[in-house]
Amino acid sequence: MRDFLPEDATRLRYIETTAREAAKLYGFQEIITPIVEHHELLAAKSGEEIKARIFAFDDLGGRKVALRPEFTASIARLMATTLRNEPKPIRLFSTGTLYRYDEPQFGRYREFWQSNYEIMGSSRLEADVEILVLTDHLLREVGLQKYWFKIGHVGILRGLLTEEGLEDEKQNSIMQLLDTKQWKKSLDLAKEFGLSRRGGEILKKIFETKGSDVSKTLKPLRKELKNYPKSVEALENLQQIIDLCLAAHIEFNTSIETGFARGLEYYTGIIFELLVPEMNVALGGGGRYDKLVELFGGEPTPAVGVAHGLDRIALAADMQNVQLESSPKTVAIIPIGDEAIPKAISLASKLREKGVNTEMEIMGRKVSTSLQSSSRRKVTHAIIIGPKEIEEEKVMLRDMIKRVQNLVNIEEVLELLSQRRIPVK
Ligand code: AMP
Repeated sequence: MRDFLPEDATRLRYIETTAREAAKLYGFQEIITPIVEHHELLAAKSGEEIKARIFAFDDLGGRKVALRPEFTASIARLMATTLRNEPKPIRLFSTGTLYRYDEPQFGRYREFWQSNYEIMGSSRLEADVEILVLTDHLLREVGLQKYWFKIGHVGILRGLLTEEGLEDEKQNSIMQLLDTKQWKKSLDLAKEFGLSRRGGEILKKIFETKGSDVSKTLKPLRKELKNYPKSVEALENLQQIIDLCLAAHIEFNTSIETGFARGLEYYTGIIFELLVPEMNVALGGGGRYDKLVELFGGEPTPAVGVAHGLDRIALAADMQNVQLESSPKTVAIIPIGDEAIPKAISLASKLREKGVNTEMEIMGRKVSTSLQSSSRRKVTHAIIIGPKEIEEEKVMLRDMIKRVQNLVNIEEVLELLSQRRIPVK
């Protein structure tokens, strides 16, 4: 688990703020759930892959508890209890840290940050589309240049396997192998479980089907699957969701991949991941899970959601040289001589009243030393007040990035510095 020093913390919080603003813009309300939950709840519906990586321990009361590896189980718990009778739809947003005993490597940490959005209570395509559009909006806002959605639908594969008589448990084992792209092993396992020869051929076609144009990509598969009505229904659902985005002139790059599966077992409809060319791990993922709330003892509640990995979005922003608006304007006030100190304190108060982040020079340092220190800490402006400035009733305003300075009067300084944030890397 990592420390975030000021620069990294600022970048992460910037992305978190963007995620929070996106939540507001799309009508989601924030909820805060605990980091520690009953192990049983967290293990209930996670895939084997995640279950094995939960940080679990006995608390002092002898209960088996664990650090949350995802938000969705806690939200499903709430939907089954406290929020049970709330009018639908419910749009919920959460952000914070999650814990998985993953092998630490590039973009994979044991403690990581997500922004998580769930729409509860709508089985309609519009809900799936809202989740995709919100995700696209977030990445645009952050400023990523190149990214795409990998999209599939678990119903295509499950429809085939159900029709072929394979129970859910067996289907889950096959999907698990697919999640780690072990195509051959999953095909062999399906055959071992009794998949017919024809079923095996279709399964291979499902694995191979991939393309950016939804109609063209899915057409041949639809023919192959004509005797598997549940799979055809899933194909149509996938097509309709993408078509609806197109009809609304919402354009993002997609790669339709019908053989794609995701680690969590609870998905029932579309599934997707967000990818960038520079990284081989996903920036986010989500999908539809209509049975989950019921599994936690709640009312049948159709649901669709997405989780974005904030650490990975920050990494992708770095790799795509995105100028994150990472630090708001910060002003250092440097008095020269004792006479200037009360003036400096008074100006600092006025700036803070206007919401400008302001640091007082509190070490009595020389201007040059103080400026050096400000520059190291990425302060954007310095205000220098000395005898000359006091005499002229002005202050010296220095732009630390452009390295230029001017004598300006106090009103002007207040006006200038209380304008919106300026971009700083
Ligand atoms: P998941 O809940 O597995 O669908 O993950 C959703 C998103 O969370 C992923 O796409 C990643 O961006 C992020 N994520 C998952 N596991 C990790 C991890 N160990 N370290 C960093 N980010 C992660």
